[in-house]
Amino acid sequence: MRQSTIVVFSGGLDSTTLLYDRRAAGDEVRALSVDYGQRHRTAELAAARGIAERLGVEHRVLDLRGLVGFFGPNSLTDATVAVPDGAYAPDTMALTVVPNRNMILLAVGLAWAASSGADAVAFGAHGGAYTPYPDCQPAFAAAMHAAARVCDARPLAVLAPFVAWSKADIVRRAVALGVPLAGTWSCYAGGAVHCGRCGTCRDRRAAFAAAGVPDTTAYAAGLQNPGAAV
Ligand SMILES: [Zn+2]
Repeated sequence: MRQSTIVVFSGGLDSTTLLYDRRAAGDEVRALSVDYGQRHRTAELAAARGIAERLGVEHRVLDLRGLVGFFGPNSLTDATVAVPDGAYAPDTMALTVVPNRNMILLAVGLAWAASSGADAVAFGAHGGAYTPYPDCQPAFAAAMHAAARVCDARPLAVLAPFVAWSKADIVRRAVALGVPLAGTWSCYAGGAVHCGRCGTCRDRRAAFAAAGVPDTTAYAAGLQNPGAAV
């Protein structure tokens, strides 16, 4: 029987590749996006809708903006905290942490899985032990999987197939799967095109360069197809 999987799906490079990856694996997939008041919500959710439509995948967007007051001062959900420019360093990375975001997203996904007969929830965490985000690390993914086995009368699963991968590995997988990478959204800055300068844009550009894949993302003026010039 085909596995039925809910994919936690932001419309970004990683989760879009994950959606394609699970479909290619033969899973019956549905996509879950969450509006948690993120600064880049308009572009991110538009990208997610476009990709889900293109695939003909059921896509739900849950409004969790009521959670903003619980996330403290961070640049994603607090309009008074600017998105830092430049490559990630520990202090600027800390400003982009939405506390415990992935557990919240997985919990919602598991509720949908439990209520709809799905077997698993997948999320696109990557970076292995090297990512500075605690809720993207292998130990977190393993703990959430263990919880999924016992959170419902029926054992569920949490899948994190990219957890030990680099972002360049994901770009390579995306190319192999035919993912429309230019239609995915990464930038945290909240503009109409990728700013090219925030930490996540720099990660995106560096991943294309490291993978040796042309970057067709539309960046703000002066940053078109920047290649390795990160
Ligand atoms: Zn950006």
